[in-house]
Amino acid sequence: MPSVVWSMIKQIQGLHHITSLASDAQENNGFFTEVLGLRRVKKTVNFDRPDVYHLYYGDEIGTPGSVMTYFPIPDISKGHAGTGEVGTSVFSVPEGSLPYWEDRLEGLGIEELTKTVRFGETRLGFRGSDGDGFALVEQPGDARAPWAGSDIGNDFALRGFHSATFRVKDADATAELLRFMGYELAENESNHQRFRIAGGNGADIIDISSMPTANDAEQGSGSVHHIAFSVKDRQAQLDVREALVDTGYSVTPVIDRDYFWAIYFRTPGGIFFEVATDEPGFDRDEDTAHLGEALKLPSQHAHLREKLERDLPPIAG
Ligand code: ZN
Repeated sequence: MPSVVWSMIKQIQGLHHITSLASDAQENNGFFTEVLGLRRVKKTVNFDRPDVYHLYYGDEIGTPGSVMTYFPIPDISKGHAGTGEVGTSVFSVPEGSLPYWEDRLEGLGIEELTKTVRFGETRLGFRGSDGDGFALVEQPGDARAPWAGSDIGNDFALRGFHSATFRVKDADATAELLRFMGYELAENESNHQRFRIAGGNGADIIDISSMPTANDAEQGSGSVHHIAFSVKDRQAQLDVREALVDTGYSVTPVIDRDYFWAIYFRTPGGIFFEVATDEPGFDRDEDTAHLGEALKLPSQHAHLREKLERDLPPIAG
């Protein structure tokens, strides 16, 4: 009889980043920097497809748990929401700031503003420039510092992720995986389960929505491509990788993404997970004062610079 060793993973510290697909780099950049007031902390390319940008937005230095990233692909088809994906990426805002955000987003013509209450929290839902699902939730006592370089004051600015909501057909296998990763069930509400990780980086919550009769998602612009969880360093990542492999997950080797190391695996609910290191960070090849300004290329694509600078669409701002 095989012995099952429940060596629960203890190295996960909450979310690291969420990566989505977009259709237009300029619109995407405007949405995150001008509408939401995040900082672009890196302008690079998709390491596996260097003719496509990889744009990173976050707080001043792109602290793990604050980082939303995009692959803008000009000829991409539109995504269709469904199961097997991250449905909503939720940012934390200060207590009392939702009326400001409602006015701001309405004034800027942002689509499909909604107000719902889930787990006792009011969430202001809205759509990104490709129909992406976002929401803001007031998180009292969130000590994370916002990017101070936007026109949005400290009393209102985004602090980083509050949570992400998964849409799956059957919550059980995903719930079991989250427990294995160190999350604990915090609350149940109708078809939603809230999981929280203790001692996390602030981006500590995953909500699972079970939607047994919904269609599968079709990935395209406005879809989340993958969601990344944070570990402190490479040793923690190797420990996590070993635990996942021992449990039967098929996990990629460690991949150098220049600003972090990454491993990836497909989850039972269909969502693509990454585990990324907090080291070395986005300031490894740029001064903090100038993060995100220049086109940075990984060494394997450095020889393409002239072509990429000519062919990639320019991004103003
Ligand atoms: Zn990633």
